[in-house]
Amino acid sequence: MLLACDPTDNEAGLKLLEDLTTNANQIQQQVLDEILTRNARTEYLASFLKGQPDKQLFKSQVPIVNYEDIKPYIERIANGEPSHIISAQPITELLTSSGTSGGKPKMMPSTAEELDRKTFFYNLLVPVMNKYVDGLDQGKGMYLLFIKPEITTPAGLKARPVLTSYYKSSNFRNRPFNRFNVYTSPDDAILCLDSKQSMYCQLLCGLVQRHEVLRVGAVFASAFLRAIKFLKDYWPELCSNIRTGRLSDWITDQSCRNAVSLIVSEPKPDLADLVEGCCNGEPWEGIIKKLWPKTKYIEVIVTGSMAQYIPTLEFYSGGLPLVSTMYGSSECYLGINLEPLCKPCDVSYTLLPNMAFFEFLPVPVEKSHLQCNGAVSDLNCEASDADRRPETAAVGLGDVKIGHYYELIVTTFTGLYRYRVGDILMVTGFRNAAPQFRFVHRRNVVLSIDTDKTKEDDLLNAVAEAKQIIEPLGFLLTEYTSYADTSSVPGHYVLFWELNNIIDLHHLYHPMQVDEAVMEKCCFKVEEKLDSVYRRCRRRDRSIGPLEIRVVKRGTFDVLMDFCVSKGSSVNQYKTPRCIKSEEAIGILESRVMGRFFSREVPSWPEESMI
Ligand code: AMP
Repeated sequence: MLLACDPTDNEAGLKLLEDLTTNANQIQQQVLDEILTRNARTEYLASFLKGQPDKQLFKSQVPIVNYEDIKPYIERIANGEPSHIISAQPITELLTSSGTSGGKPKMMPSTAEELDRKTFFYNLLVPVMNKYVDGLDQGKGMYLLFIKPEITTPAGLKARPVLTSYYKSSNFRNRPFNRFNVYTSPDDAILCLDSKQSMYCQLLCGLVQRHEVLRVGAVFASAFLRAIKFLKDYWPELCSNIRTGRLSDWITDQSCRNAVSLIVSEPKPDLADLVEGCCNGEPWEGIIKKLWPKTKYIEVIVTGSMAQYIPTLEFYSGGLPLVSTMYGSSECYLGINLEPLCKPCDVSYTLLPNMAFFEFLPVPVEKSHLQCNGAVSDLNCEASDADRRPETAAVGLGDVKIGHYYELIVTTFTGLYRYRVGDILMVTGFRNAAPQFRFVHRRNVVLSIDTDKTKEDDLLNAVAEAKQIIEPLGFLLTEYTSYADTSSVPGHYVLFWELNNIIDLHHLYHPMQVDEAVMEKCCFKVEEKLDSVYRRCRRRDRSIGPLEIRVVKRGTFDVLMDFCVSKGSSVNQYKTPRCIKSEEAIGILESRVMGRFFSREVPSWPEESMI
């Protein structure tokens, strides 16, 4: 089930998509057949299937699992046991996901063949985009792409993020249009491990080729906004490099320097003047359109937690469409957006039936719904059938219903069987026989700025540690909630804390004196206790700013409760939402803030070892 797609043949690509979506159900059955035939004798599957590649047995016997269930197998492979404990094909690398387990990144198995499957997926995006936007072959794409450091497991396997793996592969270097120089960023600038040098060089190359650029983008909206922030800080130096045709001396990565020097090879004072003219002066409204005047769209994922960046992107974009082309994960690539120019709020992804075998665990509406304040509410409901008997409750791709919510379960070609990805999706319609899904949210995740995904209990544990700092001083943390403040770049976590005096619980209007240094320590303690992806974003990537605690007046959370109840929450079942999204609710808290405190230190990272 490894298909090929020629990205230079639009017609053939669109025909392939028609076939895949029309025959989605048959293809799903073939995919499952192939996965079971190959892997029924692996240690993992043999324990449930007795070596038989039997689809009925698969559905009745193979459990639906979380990462913790398969972690021992992954760790055995990381430590040198043969791949065939989970996969008949050799596991060639482990992909570190932004989801964490025990505070460390989860690791997903991958194979050489899977790289080709990803290439197929990327190739299929090309005819879809060409169908909606004319003339993309007449110019260049400025895609700001980055890699991250990798580690080697005790058995010598590489463990690295999925995009790092892809960008370092020959599939990426040999991508079809690369040899025609259609991307402004040279591969060596993308592959430069120093993220500052990489960013500087990619922006410089993008500016030098500004008149040829027809589209710009990054993978996630957060990364694109980081690039704009970087541009704000570095445009004078970038302009000086353009003016003189000489690259700054601090670009010391030799391959990167060599590649960029070929592009920035002669003085261009007129171009420097033009760029300077655009960048000089605030506000930067519409800066993208000014700097890259021929740009037709911005390609960045703005669904899920990235939706919080839409207003800021719209400000900078000058009205350009924001295009979310794909939905993927470390487990496997999943779906593509067949209507790329639709509004961000209307984006749906069509899961490609040849990428993996998909199942869907129904999520009751009340669990899937967002509370009045927009925070995820899955606290207040009874356990459903899907919780009690997930194996039998899961339905196939062809059985999902429009308007219903599901949790995605994948069985991959790489050794994951009935694995809960953790994403909640809603069916919005069908393309032929293939359902289309809106990404609703990630299970339990309350806060996210970049690739971090902080779950409710991670936050709870971190806050529990931090409040120990104030308790000996006579303060009690009576309530808290949080939100991701993305009004500035980088965004940061904000916690609202309501405090009380331990000895003075009933004197509601007694003024609180909180010591600034103590509260700053609390901020830092929370950060230190958050998982390694958060700390990496804070320390190495600097894609998250210092955590802030805002202390609110006593009684604030009662007002919040009144507000939620007025919007339909049940008084009996009301629990303080640990994350707030509605502007109105944030306004209620904000108007009662007595003090604002920021973390003064940067939490530790890297991990001694990720395994
Ligand atoms: P990772 O495994 O670290 O690559 O993260 C994969 C996760 O990122 C997915 O399971 C989703 O939760 C999220 N994600 C990826 N693509 C999208 C998208 N297009 N829209 C919303 N969320 C996405």
